[in-house]
Amino acid sequence: MECNTGQLELFDIQTEFPHPAPEQVALVEEKVLQIAHAYNLRVHRVKWKDNRRVMASVGRNGDLNLHIMYQRADEDDLKSLIKVVMGRQSGLDRKRFEKFIEEHLPREYGEGPSRLVILPPKGLFHDLNAALEKVLPLLDEPLERMPLVGWSPVRVGRRGITWGTHRDTPEGPLLLVNAILDSHDVPAWVVEHIVWHELCHQAIPPVNGNNGRRLIHSRIFREFESRFPRLKDAEQWEEKNVAHLIRRHLRNRRRR
Ligand SMILES: [Zn+2]
Repeated sequence: MECNTGQLELFDIQTEFPHPAPEQVALVEEKVLQIAHAYNLRVHRVKWKDNRRVMASVGRNGDLNLHIMYQRADEDDLKSLIKVVMGRQSGLDRKRFEKFIEEHLPREYGEGPSRLVILPPKGLFHDLNAALEKVLPLLDEPLERMPLVGWSPVRVGRRGITWGTHRDTPEGPLLLVNAILDSHDVPAWVVEHIVWHELCHQAIPPVNGNNGRRLIHSRIFREFESRFPRLKDAEQWEEKNVAHLIRRHLRNRRRR
């Protein structure tokens, strides 16, 4: 079930994970080199890789190749990483290193052509499990099956952007939120609204309209959705900011 709220004409279709702003990436690179030098690791620059298997490697030319998810790492995570790279890690470093990967490595979900790549719920700025916990009390009764939540890669299509999706899979309900919303300037209540909207799809199935069409956003659905306290604020925010979010995403991608 896809809900395209932002209608914006764009030329290309992109599927990818968001990356922090270039300035933020530059700061991480600086930090990495500082830490590396403090531990006497001789590297001259950081190169970002999107390889699934290798998290970090040192090239002969002094490049430190890092997986792009380390653009999201804090100082302690970077320290543990460098120590692991150098084989000087304590048990705690190893644990921290593994936990970071566990929390940030994209996962594949499902099988065959419908396979999805999703990011774990704990994002850079927003935690989808926390958002889910926040909106669950708005339901009358507990769900039969709790949805698995995660971030979906940013997709910008001709018809605009899909904020979130809810679907049934053999493994259970899957609720995904567009990772374009995992940003410092997106309010938590906007993320919570998208989670709530998609959760409403699980609680309120589509009804048959007069002309035999399936109504996904029926009147009952809309009434139910309006239990969300800041519904109007959230919808207005989404409408007002969709173009800006898309433009910024495309700009950051070009400057990578
Ligand atoms: Zn919807």
